[in-house]
Amino acid sequence: MFDVVISGAGPSGSHCAEVLSTAGFSVALIEKDADWRKPCGGGINHRVLDMYPELRKLNLPKIRNIAMHSAGYNKLEYQVSERARGTVMDRLDLDNFIRNKAIDAGAELFDKNLSFDFIYKNQKRVGIKTKTPSGMKDYYGNLIIVADGMSSKLSLKSGLRKKWRTEEIANGKCAIKQGKHQLDEEFIYIYFKPFKGYAWIFPLDEERFNIGVYTFSEDNINYDLNSVYNDFIKDPEIKSYIPKLDYRECWLGAYPFPVNGILEKSLIDDHVMLVGDTVGFVSPISGEGIQHALLSGKIAAETAIKALEKENFSKEFLKEYKNHPKIKQQIRSFKLKKSLREFFYKDKGKFLNKILQLAEQDAEFRAQVVDIFMSKQVPSKEFLSKIL
Ligand SMILES: Cc1cc2nc3c(=O)[nH]c(=O)nc-3n(C[C@H](O)[C@H](O)[C@H](O)COP(=O)(O)OP(=O)(O)OC[C@H]3O[C@@H](n4cnc5c(N)ncnc54)[C@H](O)[C@@H]3O)c2cc1C
Repeated sequence: MFDVVISGAGPSGSHCAEVLSTAGFSVALIEKDADWRKPCGGGINHRVLDMYPELRKLNLPKIRNIAMHSAGYNKLEYQVSERARGTVMDRLDLDNFIRNKAIDAGAELFDKNLSFDFIYKNQKRVGIKTKTPSGMKDYYGNLIIVADGMSSKLSLKSGLRKKWRTEEIANGKCAIKQGKHQLDEEFIYIYFKPFKGYAWIFPLDEERFNIGVYTFSEDNINYDLNSVYNDFIKDPEIKSYIPKLDYRECWLGAYPFPVNGILEKSLIDDHVMLVGDTVGFVSPISGEGIQHALLSGKIAAETAIKALEKENFSKEFLKEYKNHPKIKQQIRSFKLKKSLREFFYKDKGKFLNKILQLAEQDAEFRAQVVDIFMSKQVPSKEFLSKIL
């Protein structure tokens, strides 16, 4: 019997496990495959680096500039302030790093365990059932934290949320490629297209880069992900950065992520909390989810600590997670980002073409575009009058 059973040892589950174990509680961290490299751009913002300062000591790229391109190849380049600089990592290295922090703090990792249902006693959830290579295995705990991402079986079984609808998700495909490139390692490169979504190139070092693309909402159906990916890697416009034809593909993967904001009604139930991608902690505008996964894992762990101290695992008590000011703030921020997204993607890329075209000519306008893209401000009437 554990204090807490966590399904999923990605960023949200592992960080949650670390916080709980550090506070002295016993944690079973259940993972279907710790060798799985989650399809991801590996872009990490400065808030993640603030949470794990050790990462700053590694020899990772420093993102000093962002180059955004519209579908018509108008370009907006901006410098990231020193404070706000992030990095790029191979996702398997990042997951191993966060997972090892949890293990070092005392969490027990159970790898190659696929969770698929809850165990009930007197109609209460008292644990989870898993499939392992050597048969079924049950894990018991006072609290169950569901952190197993988009494909979570437990969140469906909990009845807290339904299957994702196409308009709620994005579909991404990306690869790590190796070979001499002409990319500036201090840049990340974003390419908007005439569909909802974008393409990216994130340099990892002088020989490797992460390249990918995603579509979202109805364009998951209107556009074929494999075709948009293939078109992008062959795009003549990016040949100046990646001129070779035969880059070695170190790894390739495709995976969905939620982009419609946090499912605030699905966060808690008696004995259960949902965190990370499982319940929509991904920015609807940039697709960043690592920072938000860590935040939700941390707040859920802090709530769990109080619940364990009071021996109260009721939905009523667990509301503290849902009502935490940082979670509330995140819910509001994603709602704003979702409405800004409509603005950026208007008119199949033409709108953004015009915005970036104007930004090329006018420094003040450019600063406003950056602030809007970073969700620091909403478009003013004056700003809109220049584009509409
Ligand atoms: C193509 C793509 C690109 C992205 N790029 C970025 C980016 O550059 N920067 C960024 O910040 N975010 C990015 N994201 C989003 C980011 O990957 C997620 O938001 C983040 O990984 C969420 O963390 P998590 O711990 O909630 O879930 P996950 O990272 O999905 O972790 C879930 C864990 O649970 C395990 N698991 C799944 N099912 C079970 C089961 N039944 N039993 C046991 N274990 C299970 C999985 O193996 C995994 O380890 C991207 C996503 C995609 C798909």
